[in-house]
Amino acid sequence: MKTFYCCLSLLLIYGICHDSLAKEPPTEEELELKQHPRLVSSRDFAALDEELETRFWHDKAQSILADKLSHHKALNENRAKNIILFLGDGMSVHTIAATRAHLGDSNKQVYFEKFPYVGLSKTYAIDERTPDSASTATAYLSGVKGNYGTIGVNAEVPRRDCLAATNTSTHTQSIAQWAQEAGKWAGLVTTARVTHASPAGVYAHTAERDWEDDQTIEKHGCSAELNTDIARQLVEGSVGKDLRVILGGGRAKFRDQTKHDEEGILGERSDGRDLIEDWKNEKTERGQRGEYVWSLKGLSQLDLSKTDYLLGLFDASHCPYHGDRQRSHLEYAEPSLSDMTEAALKVLSRSEEGYFLFVESGRIDMAHHATLAHKALEDTQEFANAIELARDLTNEEDTLIVVTSDHSHTMSINGYPYRRQNIYETAPNLADDELPFTILSYANGPGFKQTYNEQIGRLDLSHVNTENVDFEFQATVPLSSETHGGEDVAVFASGPKEHLFSGNYEQSTIPALMAHAANIGPFAEDKLKN
Ligand SMILES: [Zn+2]
Repeated sequence: MKTFYCCLSLLLIYGICHDSLAKEPPTEEELELKQHPRLVSSRDFAALDEELETRFWHDKAQSILADKLSHHKALNENRAKNIILFLGDGMSVHTIAATRAHLGDSNKQVYFEKFPYVGLSKTYAIDERTPDSASTATAYLSGVKGNYGTIGVNAEVPRRDCLAATNTSTHTQSIAQWAQEAGKWAGLVTTARVTHASPAGVYAHTAERDWEDDQTIEKHGCSAELNTDIARQLVEGSVGKDLRVILGGGRAKFRDQTKHDEEGILGERSDGRDLIEDWKNEKTERGQRGEYVWSLKGLSQLDLSKTDYLLGLFDASHCPYHGDRQRSHLEYAEPSLSDMTEAALKVLSRSEEGYFLFVESGRIDMAHHATLAHKALEDTQEFANAIELARDLTNEEDTLIVVTSDHSHTMSINGYPYRRQNIYETAPNLADDELPFTILSYANGPGFKQTYNEQIGRLDLSHVNTENVDFEFQATVPLSSETHGGEDVAVFASGPKEHLFSGNYEQSTIPALMAHAANIGPFAEDKLKN
């Protein structure tokens, strides 16, 4: 019996080896065809007549060329009175390209792609090749690279070190501080919690991005007496308490765990404090009009022309995804990113010396982490809407708008989809196992369960509705949360000194360029080293 199995396995091995030996390597022509397969033309593909002509493309290039020449002839060398930094969290170049398809065709432009100057920023952290939103916030807001997970401190502070960040010499200054010191107003808007990593870069200094409330600091074995949590820094810190506009989510970080908020959700603090009350009292003590709102209704009822300080916390945690906000009819309860941006500009535009505003679309990143590509692209579309609104409400002559991202994600556009094919479908060609695969897919993440199953092997998506907004796109490697990507992200600029933003540079250069355009902080004209 033993001999039988031995012979059988030998035969099997011989069979496998023989089979692979017998296969001739593909010819050059076969290889070419595999690399660039000829696909049967799409049912719904119809060429736009004008695109068939050489003249159409030359005319298009002529108009872009004329535009570029006019920009170069008259560089916008004005001083930026106002600066708005728009941050699409996790908005990789792939995300922007896929959003064009989400808008209906590859030839569409996502609004900010129209900006005249584009650059690339290198996003690595001091200790990690692929960074997070904390270390990158330090870079694009204060011009210094730090360690992964830390905010507003230089790289002398290791992540979650209980003491290092209590030494204020490690603290970096954000462009919001430079703006405030120059007499400008500053504010922040986000669809994430206002204490989350990106917005915290505007006003906080911490060794750990998760220290949004006192309870988490204690849970990590550090002292909430020595380390001030991020919510407290927003209300009490020198930059935080002077922010004219704070709009986003995250009420729970401001209230005690024994207290319910306006919507009945418990707070997360353990020090018994109500930081929202403290914020209001501090403004009253200063004789200023500070308004706190927690709903879209509250926001729309305010007279923003008379509001000196505005705090809007519209959710206990993050604001909903933009698409979900509409699908769940939350648009009557919570403001969109565009609504918040508009309100912020109404308050800040009253500043005679100008302003710095930070606007984050915080949930593009979270949708990618969940491999929910559809929601990531819906949020990117709304991000573009908010930018268009801001450009319309301001003047290119005195307001610099910069649009960028903190880091990339692992989503890519795969297969050979037809020109106007729905980006959420599967590719027109099948894989070598004769099974379909999604056009958008991730290198890793929870979407692995749409890719592979131990019993069945590769899953057949032929009858799965991949267009469903809750469909998790395919991923090669199983991970409960998809990771960030390590490649460069784009920087788009429009307004004074827009031309400085072209090229490839460290992410930490961004605040230097913005501050120089506004002539503030350590990069003002008179501070420059030759
Ligand atoms: Zn992330």
